[in-house]
Amino acid sequence: MLDPKAIVTIDGPSGSGKSTISRGLAAKLHFTYLDTGAMYRAVGLALERQAIDLADPESLAKCLATIELAFSPNGDDDVLVLLNGEDISQAIRTSEMGLVASRVSAQPLVREKLTALQRQLGEKGGLVAEGRDMGTVVFPKAACKFFLSASAEERARRRQKQLAEKGQLVNYQEILAQISKRDHDDANRALAPLKPAADAIMVDSSSMDPDAVLAFMLDSIAKKQAKGGRHGE
Ligand code: C5P
Repeated sequence: MLDPKAIVTIDGPSGSGKSTISRGLAAKLHFTYLDTGAMYRAVGLALERQAIDLADPESLAKCLATIELAFSPNGDDDVLVLLNGEDISQAIRTSEMGLVASRVSAQPLVREKLTALQRQLGEKGGLVAEGRDMGTVVFPKAACKFFLSASAEERARRRQKQLAEKGQLVNYQEILAQISKRDHDDANRALAPLKPAADAIMVDSSSMDPDAVLAFMLDSIAKKQAKGGRHGE
């Protein structure tokens, strides 16, 4: 049995299925799900609405000090993202906001604020945290770390299908280009770049469906626990 106060991290590039898998794993483990990408998107929205110049640290710091983020449960497996009390869950779920989030997430002041908030939310444990730097920077002592990836082409196909289901017809090449740009920027920034933690379990989901990924992760967690138990005897 996994300690109910444990933290499980799932990092990986955009479109690798982190959200679906993290939600599913949190439900199976009876843990809380923490979507840190939504936090970067929310900050991106706030900074964009106020037309903050990212090259001006003073106005950036001032604006960040006014931002309050909160999550509120919405039904069984959904969570609302609140920016100073306003529900922005839908507004942040666009490809454009993904690019804005990626841009603001390279700012040290933004990372400082959100890293502190994420650690605060993780204090009680019992958390599945998804993002880019969960296992490397925010929760380096997490009980179990995964790095979930899939080929850029497969991620672009999945994203195109998701958008089509919402009635948005977007060109495949356009999506692939956006995904590749975000991968490149996230992996090459100076601060908390996207990379697997040294002790992360690598999962390539290119040819796995979500159930197979979940089953693999639950099995990996169980094996890790059994090994830990034996060492501790
Ligand atoms: O996961 P999602 O696509 O919502 O993340 C949006 C952007 O936020 C990412 O492209 C990345 O630049 C940034 N991010 C980050 N660190 C995290 C989570 C997201 O830098 N822990």
